[in-house]
Amino acid sequence: MSATPGTKLLDNRWDEAKAAAMTEPERLLYRSNLLGGDKRITNYGGGNTSAKVEARDPLTGESVTVLWVKGSGGDVGTMKLDGFATLYQDKLEALRGIYRGLEHEDEMVGLLSHCTFDLNPRAASIDTPLHAYVPYRHVDHMHPDAVIAIAATKRSRELTKEIYGDEIGWLPWRRPGFELGLDLSKFAAENPGAKGVVLESHGLFTWGDTAKDCYETTLRIINKAIAWFDVQLAGKTAFGGETVQALEPAARRDIAAKLMPEIRARIGMDERKIGHFDDSPAVLEFVGSADLEPLAVLGTSCPDHFLRTKIRPLVLAFDPASGDVDGLLAGLDGAIETYRDGYRAYYERCRRANSPAMRDPNAVIYLVPGVGMLSFAKDKATARIASEFYVNAINVMRGASGVDTYQGLDEQEAFDIEYWLLEEAKLQRMPKPKALAGRVAFVTGGAGGIGRATAGRLLQEGACVVLADIDQGALDGAVTEFAQGFGADQVRGVVVNVTDESAVERGFAETVAEFGGLDILVSNAGIASASPIEETTLEVWNRNIDILATGYFLVSREAFRLFRRQKLGGAVVFIASKNGLAASAGAAAYCTAKAAEIHLARCLALEGAEAGIRVNTVNPDAVLRGSKIWSGEWREQRAASSRLQTDQLEEHYRNRSMLKRSVFPEDIAEAVYFLASDLSAKSTGNIINVDAGNPISFTR
Ligand code: NAD
Repeated sequence: MSATPGTKLLDNRWDEAKAAAMTEPERLLYRSNLLGGDKRITNYGGGNTSAKVEARDPLTGESVTVLWVKGSGGDVGTMKLDGFATLYQDKLEALRGIYRGLEHEDEMVGLLSHCTFDLNPRAASIDTPLHAYVPYRHVDHMHPDAVIAIAATKRSRELTKEIYGDEIGWLPWRRPGFELGLDLSKFAAENPGAKGVVLESHGLFTWGDTAKDCYETTLRIINKAIAWFDVQLAGKTAFGGETVQALEPAARRDIAAKLMPEIRARIGMDERKIGHFDDSPAVLEFVGSADLEPLAVLGTSCPDHFLRTKIRPLVLAFDPASGDVDGLLAGLDGAIETYRDGYRAYYERCRRANSPAMRDPNAVIYLVPGVGMLSFAKDKATARIASEFYVNAINVMRGASGVDTYQGLDEQEAFDIEYWLLEEAKLQRMPKPKALAGRVAFVTGGAGGIGRATAGRLLQEGACVVLADIDQGALDGAVTEFAQGFGADQVRGVVVNVTDESAVERGFAETVAEFGGLDILVSNAGIASASPIEETTLEVWNRNIDILATGYFLVSREAFRLFRRQKLGGAVVFIASKNGLAASAGAAAYCTAKAAEIHLARCLALEGAEAGIRVNTVNPDAVLRGSKIWSGEWREQRAASSRLQTDQLEEHYRNRSMLKRSVFPEDIAEAVYFLASDLSAKSTGNIINVDAGNPISFTR
């Protein structure tokens, strides 16, 4: 955080020994990653960096100056060398000659690709002229909260002067583009002593002759702002002081878990949304403050902020002291409709003749006094990042309103950025969402063979997945592996014994607090046992019934409760077994419990249909690889009953199947994906056998 009393100053992390061994582009990357690695310096995806580097022209063999500048998209903190666009500096200079003026600045974006050096496929961003025309070798454009807090005050020009003297200039708000590039160029040429510029309502530009110089200037200028705020805000109460006390952490999370599916129900009809909950101290301070409403309504300032968060958040009226959560839920319809009306009115007020059609009018950020902030977006990373951006905006408002009057960006300017044709073109270029994007799946037995393969398949299709399992060690391993493969945002693990009613309730509440709701339940947790009836103990019988029948009942009941609150339908897939359809000698407890699962699925298909909840079953058979069931006693019992060695079993089952093929966890996962996705939107109460063909389990 910054613009907060007591904020630590930024450390200089430049390692000259390391940097000296690098090429100039590598040093640019090094600087960029150092800067973007600290969120106090710039927010995720925000800002850009550049260097003008001498290189050999592949066409003429002569030395030319090439502008290396962060390309479109990407994040300076995590980018690699291929994230930079490279352009001939002399061609960029030549563009000045054909520029037709402000009215036509957007056409210059199309010309940037004509300046590409060395066939680099990375598209140049609209910020390219902001770097190209500054007459210095190295340029940083950052979005530090502490500097934006100055840039977002009514007196930002005077304050910039007061803090930086002539070292840093000030330019009035202007949308990034060719014209702003010319403004910066002019300023730098006219003020040779200046080291950079504060852009009103936006951020900071700094420059230098070497990469190290530029880096150190950027840090020094931000540190000056942090130190200045430290003095200015010392002893002051932020946001007019606390009017609503924050609830205890567990109560906050509990209310978030109640609220999120209800919000999702109301905003997820056209496009499913994933939620994120943040109750960090900065958020709680803001949502509990006297100035919450008046500041929130002013909207955010930096374009990066409001592109992610929408121009303003939705503040939900709630008095935590009364604890009236029902009242909070009852007020949702009205609050959401009022927000949408406001958004439509903003669109109508500001639209231009060629503006793209209005986009989703729902809020992204929801602020709840005493509880925290909820955010919703098309996927988890976007929802999380939106919430991080709103924390940036809170920091900015805290600083700005603490030293002067905070001002959001002018509404028409904000609209012109939000509905900019170039922004629209960027959205149109985005890849089509995956089949399960925006969906949340809960997979029981998720750390086992079939559960893990299923989770992987659903993740591959873009779902957020919660693995629920009783085995903590295996669960941790699976979550770590999936987080590496699909990103930490997409996956969570919860330790749940499916036979424990309250543990199941907790597991679903956790899921909702993490992702905002639920769309898919895969009930898969299981065991297997075999013994002649005379030798089947009551304990073994009960264990089978408890885990396979009662466990499936408990998780389904919880999922149904959620699905009904959410009003978005739902998909339940049971992993039963061939043994639930076809009787097997010597495994009565297991077979009976599996038969109960299959019948439970049919009953639930009947009950759920009117609410759009589909319930289907997959029956695996003889999935040996990856299965923990098949690594234990069950394997020995099955081998013994067929008079085989355990290592002969796989071949035995393959030969027994009609198709003469082995069945793997991935094969089961494929059937689950089909039944969990809209591919099977018109199927419920069905059973798919995935067993390479077995006449005794034909359904009829
Ligand atoms: P597995 O043992 O590899 O996975 C089962 C997982 O369920 C394990 O991670 C285990 O820890 C978990 N689990 C067990 N009891 C639990 C409980 N009370 N609460 C929460 N989690 C619990 O086995 P698998 O082969 O992947 O089996 C998955 C499902 O498929 C089971 O329902 C099984 O009956 C069914 N099935 C498997 C086969 C097969 O050949 N592998 C055949 C037919 C049906």
